Amino acid sequence: MTAPSPSPCRTCRSPEEKALETEQSISRALSDLAASPGTRKVPEAEYSRRLSACSACPHLAPDGTCLRCGCYVRIRAFLQEGRCPDWPRDRWRTAP
Ligand code: SF4
Repeated sequence: MTAPSPSPCRTCRSPEEKALETEQSISRALSDLAASPGTRKVPEAEYSRRLSACSACPHLAPDGTCLRCGCYVRIRAFLQEGRCPDWPRDRWRTAP
């Protein structure tokens, strides 16, 4: 079986094409951030803890977007200065 050819325009893309494009964009953004000397990245354990909190959160959209702020949580959680926008609860701070 061969991979489907890309749709002719952005509006006509299939859900699979949109998901792949989103994944590629997030991965590229994370790579760029990691390579940037000004980036203050959270330690891996904290990153995993934040994403775990997001995965259990009712505000996480299926595409990985936080419905409280519109950010991709994989990018927001990557940065030390990132905060969970679910104020005043802050699900990252209260996560186990
Ligand atoms: S509200 Fe906080 S825990 Fe929930 S998806 Fe957004 S960033 Fe993640």
